Amino acid sequence: MRTIEHWIDGTTTRGGSTRTGEVYDPATGRRQADVLLAEPSDVDTAVAAAAKAFALWSDSSLTRRARVMFAFRELLVRHEDELARIISSEHGKVIDDARGEIVRGREVVEYACGIAEALKGSFSDQVSSDVDVYGFRQPLGVCAGITPFNFPIMVPLWMHPMAIATGNTFVLKPSERDPSVSRMVAELYAEAGLPDGVFNVVQGDKVAVDAILDHPGIAAVSFVGSTPVAKYVHERASATGKRVQALGGAKNHAVVLPDADLEFAADQLTAAAFGSAGQRCMAVSVGVAVGDAADALVKVLERKAGEVKVGPGSEPSSDMGPLVTRAAKERVVNAVATGAEQGATVVVDGRGLSVDGHEDGFFVGPSILDHVTTDMDAYREEIFGPVLSVVRCDTVDEAIALINANPYGNGTAIFTSSGDAARRFQRAVKVGMVGVNVPIPVPMSYYSFGGWKDSLIGDSPIHGPEGVRFYTRAKVVTSRWPHARARFSFPASE
Ligand code: NAD
Repeated sequence: MRTIEHWIDGTTTRGGSTRTGEVYDPATGRRQADVLLAEPSDVDTAVAAAAKAFALWSDSSLTRRARVMFAFRELLVRHEDELARIISSEHGKVIDDARGEIVRGREVVEYACGIAEALKGSFSDQVSSDVDVYGFRQPLGVCAGITPFNFPIMVPLWMHPMAIATGNTFVLKPSERDPSVSRMVAELYAEAGLPDGVFNVVQGDKVAVDAILDHPGIAAVSFVGSTPVAKYVHERASATGKRVQALGGAKNHAVVLPDADLEFAADQLTAAAFGSAGQRCMAVSVGVAVGDAADALVKVLERKAGEVKVGPGSEPSSDMGPLVTRAAKERVVNAVATGAEQGATVVVDGRGLSVDGHEDGFFVGPSILDHVTTDMDAYREEIFGPVLSVVRCDTVDEAIALINANPYGNGTAIFTSSGDAARRFQRAVKVGMVGVNVPIPVPMSYYSFGGWKDSLIGDSPIHGPEGVRFYTRAKVVTSRWPHARARFSFPASE
């Protein structure tokens, strides 16, 4: 059995790890590798390497840092096929979708290529006689990232290019379910000319996470994952004085008004609900059908869900792959059953789906629950699978009130042909990322990504300008250069 190791100080290592976790091929249900699970001593080794590298890297010129990013970006392009294959084989998502996350992650590297512009400071001339004031930002030190399984390359790319381009060094703890691609990213950084110790990967579970949260040598922690763990990470890392950004889970609503193009809206909802088997933090998990659009919308959704081709991620004809683990599959199957028990109408039932030749894979087909109400588990819980719950509302204001009462606030969307309704919606809705006729409004890398409420613990969105701010701290210099007074006497030795 292949063992996936750590990457510390420019090389692969087993460190002092004796425990391992199992990594599956979700399409076959077979174990394909073991991953080392770090001990606190492995985190110590990685932090020591990163701290040593910080002295030189934080002193390197902006030009050099940008050039490493340009080279890294080229390698991400050149190795896109291989990266996508690795992601698909451990996560289960279809190859095209894996490519999509590589491209969206690469855009953050492209933003980081412009770090010289993003880090420009400020200058005030002659604030007092002979006095100037200027401000600039400096890196923090060793930063750490803890990331979820669902975007094994994109989410880490939201973090480390920003941290490294701003002069920090980095320790990444990827998800133990699909850890291989992070190791390859480390190799690409090395090939791009990044000095040893600047980027490290520590494989592991809660033991490694806790060691990171408590480590006195780490200045900042970036976390993306479920809300309970985000809250835990935020609290524990803050208690040891670290700067923390912690992005959590989601329950994203897409509102469909009666004046929307229903065929278009249903197409978009289907892709956004079932793409990546619903395992996206920006997946649409609740369709809010307003007024008399409801019955017609559900009919079109039913037809389109039936057209989704479910199969292994490596198969070009597949629209949607399996769930990541057997436990995730069971959770989704139970969620549909509970929905039915609690009174929802199961319009499309993905339980019991079997894919020829992949009978042991973790597949669940697209599922639609209609007449879902806010007291049902299907509405209250983040299912994180290919299940679309349809809630019916009479007016757009009722839809807005529904969304605003939900504890999550990651993404939302409205489908309408009315500019007025869309504008009212985008202003009133308490959600961080809003789409107008766009179902998954993930901001470009030169904006920042982050939800509201329980989808973002603390107050620090990720990447883009907020990423620059998060990984640096401000310094303001007040400066005077006294100049010698001119003398009219003939100079004599003093
Ligand atoms: P998760 O919270 O289970 O795991 C995330 C990371 O935390 C992993 O590295 C894991 O090893 C670690 N971890 C898990 N349990 C822990 C514990 N008890 N103590 C310490 N560390 C722990 O999340 P996941 O299942 O990998 O990913 C899916 C979740 O991530 C969903 O809730 C999804 O909405 C969320 N997510 C959010 C965003 C966003 O941008 N807001 C993006 C992607 C995923």
